[in-house]
Amino acid sequence: MGCIQKLDQSTILKLAAGEIIDRPVSIVKELVENAIDSGATIIKVHTMQGGIAEIRVEDNGCGIANEDIQLTVEPHATSKLLAFDDIGHVMTMGFRGEALASISEVADCFILSYDGKDALGMALKKTAGQKQELTKKAREQGTTVTISHLFKKIPVRFRFLKSATSEASLITKLMQQFSLHYPSIQFELKNNGVVVLEAPGNHRLADQFSHALNVSSDDVLTFQKVTHGIAVSGVITAPTKTYKQRSKCWFSVNGRMVKSPLFFRALDQALTDVIPNQSYPALVCNIECNTEEVDINIHPKKEDVKFANQDDVFIAIKRAIQSAVYQPAQSWQDSFAAITKTDSPTINQLPITPPTLTRPKEKIEEPFVTQKDVSQSNATMDRMVEFSMASKPSPVLFESAHTIQWVSFKKKYIIVPLNNYVLMFDQHAVHERILYDRFKSEADMSTIVSMPLLMPEYVEVDHGRVEFITSLIPIIRSLGIDFDAFDEHTFIIREVPQYLSKMNFSEWIHSWMDESIIDELRNASIEEKKRMLQMKACKAAVKAGQRLNDAEVRGLIESCIDSPTQFTCPHGRPLYIKMTEQQLDSLFLRS
Ligand code: ADP
Ligand code: MG
Repeated sequence: MGCIQKLDQSTILKLAAGEIIDRPVSIVKELVENAIDSGATIIKVHTMQGGIAEIRVEDNGCGIANEDIQLTVEPHATSKLLAFDDIGHVMTMGFRGEALASISEVADCFILSYDGKDALGMALKKTAGQKQELTKKAREQGTTVTISHLFKKIPVRFRFLKSATSEASLITKLMQQFSLHYPSIQFELKNNGVVVLEAPGNHRLADQFSHALNVSSDDVLTFQKVTHGIAVSGVITAPTKTYKQRSKCWFSVNGRMVKSPLFFRALDQALTDVIPNQSYPALVCNIECNTEEVDINIHPKKEDVKFANQDDVFIAIKRAIQSAVYQPAQSWQDSFAAITKTDSPTINQLPITPPTLTRPKEKIEEPFVTQKDVSQSNATMDRMVEFSMASKPSPVLFESAHTIQWVSFKKKYIIVPLNNYVLMFDQHAVHERILYDRFKSEADMSTIVSMPLLMPEYVEVDHGRVEFITSLIPIIRSLGIDFDAFDEHTFIIREVPQYLSKMNFSEWIHSWMDESIIDELRNASIEEKKRMLQMKACKAAVKAGQRLNDAEVRGLIESCIDSPTQFTCPHGRPLYIKMTEQQLDSLFLRS
């Protein structure tokens, strides 16, 4: 007798369930997708023990007609193929009409729905794989699906579930993703009765983002830019707010959430000088491009994407993100202007004159594979062009000269009270940022003018380091630093850009003599080598605890206000902290 048998329907469904649902988060995903498809504008997800004990998804969508409710748990029953004639769309969302059927095989399922047309709503109860029960019940239009006792009938699977905490965090992550993908839907997530996420669904991505990720709206920057016909828009946390993982970065292409190492390379390069190494922002980056340019694998579970013109996409993303993080502190304008109207006594009068603009050049980008050779850098080295920085008054910030007050604290911090908030600058970080931006933009444009030092500086180094330092000479010279070997273990510095004249040369050279930094430098591209040496030079040129006079403080604040990157020093430390009246009130426990 043959031994091949046909599987019964219930077994088929359990197998299908294995494919669709391996843990609570997959059920939440199916149920929330159904709610979204139903046109809901409010979706509430309540879980118990990370969904292992119970998952409830409630929506205000179209609801299910009384006569259809039984069909929802039948295999291959769907209302969607009829509703969508666009098969591509249907496939991307993975409509197969089997999610509820499969889930109700492996867990207890309770569906209550009202379509706004029947006399009353209808409830369907089905205990894992058993018979169904129907009862009429009142409900506002919409649907509630409650799933409990997951994998009741499949103990093996039950044992494979992770802890309630890790299941809960997967669900949080998923709900964040939904919220960010659908800024016009209001989402709520509770676990064990505690609110985990609340997103308003007011159509504004920035609001949805700050609520879903729990970051202050002050820390959210938006961007929107079209480059080479590729539109890139979204929101990103300010450089002062970073995370250790990049798990809070979401990218979409033509409305579909996807992943690609290309995105992260562009993001990294856009943020090189503003956030610390190995730190990441939270980000939603929506890319819109010609469909012929992009190949998204449309399998519902795959998220790969390929582009016909990778370099264009890379540059478009980089520019868009830079447009957010490289923006002068225009928001301060009102407060500075308002200050002039008050007659409060001043601590130090600080006339503000129109500052000069030193924006980064548009051309900071290289393709992500940089292939520039040393000879090119050498060419710029001998060609020290007369320094002529474009200098024009910022039209937005200061239309007329006026005064602000400031006070210095510990020769480290500069405190500036404005109308609605207080700014506290880290003078060291601001100074470093300013030097670095100037140094970098002049080097990029080959407009560095070097000045001879009064006395050449000699720096002695360990014998073992000489060869390595010698190999860097062409690069150092391309930065406008006249640097040479003097004898077997001494190097000489004769000229530097004028603003680096206070640099501690020995500190600078020794700051890259550490094993790990040498390694990093060895493996870096030429551009990256330059950047590292420049950053370290600026650090060595700035003294902490320096007393500054009025003019210097004024200059520092002006430059900071007008700095293309108002947020962080090149190492990613914040330049200033802003304290609003409300924040102070709450510190003083004023309600
Ligand atoms: P699919 O989503 O692939 O159609 P499901 O098993 O997830 O399959 O759902 C089956 C059907 O049940 C859907 O096609 C839809 O008609 C109905 N349905 C499920 N959830 C909802 C909901 N929240 N609101 C309205 N209808 C729903
Ligand atoms: Mg579905």
